[in-house]
Amino acid sequence: MKIAMVSEHANPLAALGEADAGGQNVHVAELSAALTRSGHDVTVYTRREDRTTPAEVRAPQGYRVVHVPAGPPLKEPKDHLLPYMGEFGSFLRDRWATERPDLAHAHFWMSGLATALAASATGTPVAQTFHALGVVKKRYQGDQDTSPADRNRLERIIGRQAGRVVATCSDEVFELSRMGVPRSRISIVPCGVDLRRFTPDGPVAPRREAHRLVAVGRLVPRKGFDIAITALAQLPDTELVIAGGPERGRLSQDPEARRLRELADRLGVGERVRWPGQVSREDLPALLRSADVVVCTPWYEPFGIVPLEAMACGVPVVAAAVGGLTDTVVDGVTGLLVRPHQPAELASRVRRLLGDPALRHAYGTAGHDRAVARYSWDRVAADTVRAYRKLVPEPAAAAEAR
Ligand code: UDP
Repeated sequence: MKIAMVSEHANPLAALGEADAGGQNVHVAELSAALTRSGHDVTVYTRREDRTTPAEVRAPQGYRVVHVPAGPPLKEPKDHLLPYMGEFGSFLRDRWATERPDLAHAHFWMSGLATALAASATGTPVAQTFHALGVVKKRYQGDQDTSPADRNRLERIIGRQAGRVVATCSDEVFELSRMGVPRSRISIVPCGVDLRRFTPDGPVAPRREAHRLVAVGRLVPRKGFDIAITALAQLPDTELVIAGGPERGRLSQDPEARRLRELADRLGVGERVRWPGQVSREDLPALLRSADVVVCTPWYEPFGIVPLEAMACGVPVVAAAVGGLTDTVVDGVTGLLVRPHQPAELASRVRRLLGDPALRHAYGTAGHDRAVARYSWDRVAADTVRAYRKLVPEPAAAAEAR
């Protein structure tokens, strides 16, 4: 199939860790790579964010990335991009008038808008992955939510109009149903993990204390790093590594990093929190392997790739029982689920694991098995193609030959 991936803000080639570069970038990059491996022709359309980027590049994994001129060629917060989606959609429409894809897969709601414009003009079928839903964001972030005012209304329209909505976890299906998306048009396909990169064996980053907890993610309040910091005060001889945000040298300018550091100092644990800043894909496995436990304590989580990366490395995960984390982390098997916003509960569950190396090993092994059995990107790509095939049936001759 000729597949157009539309990902307005999340460029598959970007560095990860800053406020708007995380799971969606990984998803688009890895899904595109896996689809290319299985013989599909994939082009990713993403907004041009600087003047020097070429209009088109070929990723090392073989898919094409087209940098779409829409709005100023500058990095802008994703919540400022809505006004440029008309321009983005017109670009797609003109491009697809001459090279029409068999199917477009839009990632995030704003890509859904731009894609709808081009798809209706060219008759292209559309699959939509939201990655995050405005209605959930508003519920948890309230006044701190900087999404455009119209987001929820537009998201409902996109969800109801898309030929197929690909949800990444079962919790999302409930939200989509409440938005009026018919269950018969929803497929559930999770995110995956790169099983070649994230393995139990390989280099291990050095540590300074007897025990180590690792948390990884974009440095935004909803990731709940403050909960892990608060729990640390009840966990002696333990260090907490918080990876993410800008590069280490620029961390002191990051408002969330400053807020978290102040909290750690106030609680008397500042000396035991490590801040490597943004960690590259190459260095991340060694960091995860150095952990006794990986902690993920967000307020909410549309999917959460980090726990899968930890599981693939054979490390137990203690996670808040929210969103996608309740699909990936099996309580009492691959780790533990705790209530969100409960640092004391987190501390007591982690303490138990820190004191029991055999249990950690058992959870880590089960986590690795689960990641390998269910979450390879090749499997995710095959399941995604099954969802695409509901819109673009495989020609009978090809299906027979297979
Ligand atoms: N990540 C990374 N380096 C960092 C911070 C994050 O490689 O310094 C990666 C992380 O390993 C994961 C992704 O960014 O693959 C974050 O995805 P997740 O689904 O956990 O969270 P989201 O960003 O979607 O909220």
